[in-house]
Amino acid sequence: MGTRLLEGKEVADRIRKDLAVRISALKEKGVVPGLAVIIVGDDPASVSYVTMKGKACQDLGMYSLTVRKPADLSEADLLQIINGLNRDPKVHGILVQLPVPRHIDVGKVIAAIDPKKDVDGFHPTNVGKMLIGEDGGFLPATPYGIHVMLKAYGIDVAGKNVVVVGRSNIVGKPMAAILMQKGVDATVTVCHSRTKDLKAITRQADVLISGIGKPLFITADMVKDGVVIADAGSNRIDDPSAKKGYRFVGDVDFDAIKDKASAITPVPGGVGPMTIVMLMSNTVLAAERSLERQGRPKV
Ligand code: NAP
Repeated sequence: MGTRLLEGKEVADRIRKDLAVRISALKEKGVVPGLAVIIVGDDPASVSYVTMKGKACQDLGMYSLTVRKPADLSEADLLQIINGLNRDPKVHGILVQLPVPRHIDVGKVIAAIDPKKDVDGFHPTNVGKMLIGEDGGFLPATPYGIHVMLKAYGIDVAGKNVVVVGRSNIVGKPMAAILMQKGVDATVTVCHSRTKDLKAITRQADVLISGIGKPLFITADMVKDGVVIADAGSNRIDDPSAKKGYRFVGDVDFDAIKDKASAITPVPGGVGPMTIVMLMSNTVLAAERSLERQGRPKV
């Protein structure tokens, strides 16, 4: 069977070109879209994600501000930083890199971000808008990116059985919310660690979306022929043959499944690049909306 590789990297490149046009239109109006990223502590994975986000902003000619604070930053101080950024007109998008240290209440932190600047789409206001299908919010970048990528490849999920494995607030839940909306029309099943007989469910999937965080967990016997797979998993595994001694793999056993699937995302190069570009897209949208609120048209 001819398996299509769903190359998020290519779709992301096309989206970046569109964003460049929107950014220059904003600049003509005197607005440079700005993203502030706050990182608390020095978790290497978080530091690398934050660096990637800053670089993505700079590559697009956007304003990028990284606020790095030590792991012992108090919750009150973090809330104060967020308040300052909420008021900063140069900053259109704010995100706090997760996870935050345990002494900080992540719910309070997310709730402190102005929903109009919440480009991660994690604020309860934006989660609510997503769930009821109301415009004007922001969709979380990873599931948003997966949906945009499926559409870019002409994969219509309407009426299809979509199985989402994982129910985090970052991947699984918003993925289900996006795909079940009227007009998108997937029939969505969400599975998690307490799901009984996972394989019986995943084998029903026309489209399988995985956000588990377990390397190569989805095996060939868990999917049916012709399945479409989007793998959000990004798991570091030791690999003595790799230059750095490790490499990244998805939740899905790509090599074993690729000939069975009709389409599948690679890891890396699939969902990851879409996540970054949708974050940029949300930030540009936030900047356009800020102009509209000032009564100026966006172009
Ligand atoms: P998470 O918060 O740890 O959630 C993992 C989910 O997987 C949970 O809902 C968990 O179920 C479920 N799960 C764990 N073991 C399972 C099992 N054996 N069977 C069925 N479900 C199981 O992780 P996350 O933040 O969503 O991230 C998931 C993966 O996506 C990670 O690899 C992460 O690195 C990756 N990720 C990638 C991007 C990207 O840009 N590509 C962005 C975000 C995340 P319970 O709820 O029952 O515990």
